[in-house]
Amino acid sequence: MVIESRSRIVKHLVNRLRDTSVDAAVFRGLLRECARMLLVEAVDTLPVAEKRIDTWQGGFTGEFIDEGNIVCVAILRAALPMQEGVMAALDGVEGGFLAMKRDEESFKSRLYYDRIPDIEDKTVILVDPMVATGGSLHDALTLLRQRAPARIVSLNVIGAKEGVERIERAFPDVDVHIAQIDPKLNKDAYIVPGLGDAGDRAYNTV
Ligand code: URA
Repeated sequence: MVIESRSRIVKHLVNRLRDTSVDAAVFRGLLRECARMLLVEAVDTLPVAEKRIDTWQGGFTGEFIDEGNIVCVAILRAALPMQEGVMAALDGVEGGFLAMKRDEESFKSRLYYDRIPDIEDKTVILVDPMVATGGSLHDALTLLRQRAPARIVSLNVIGAKEGVERIERAFPDVDVHIAQIDPKLNKDAYIVPGLGDAGDRAYNTV
């Protein structure tokens, strides 16, 4: 299921990200914040567990997010700030990495790096800012699903309508929390209005 955010602060962050005058450091900070806000929106899909801890006033049993059963997977490189945002809030989750490269002629993605810990029966939070054609997200979800996680939650910043619809059709069981769905792609498969190339903008390689 695709859930587009209705939060004014999330929309504000997205519109800041679109602005060409935003530099790389600020851009990464905005992506980080956006991921934290989307995490709040997705929190009901995360596993919880009761845990006993020592407080300064004695023992305490409370409900915690079951961080040991969550893995946050980033698609390199633009998702790194998003992963940082998630792992700043949930410091006990494991991190995983996938790298895909988009062929600029066919627009198809190709996997060239896979460093994911064991996700069997765990909840995976997959982060990737852009869902253009949906190709890399589709490939990442296909790969993750083969490793039998209990659940996959995807956090995304901007998606083009057609890419998001493709993901929804192929993975109806995946909760896709997305900040903004934009109307279309241009001839180079960039999202319009979008924010440009998220990886280049985040790492000063525009
Ligand atoms: N990837 C991006 O970073 N931006 C787009 O608009 C499309 C794909």
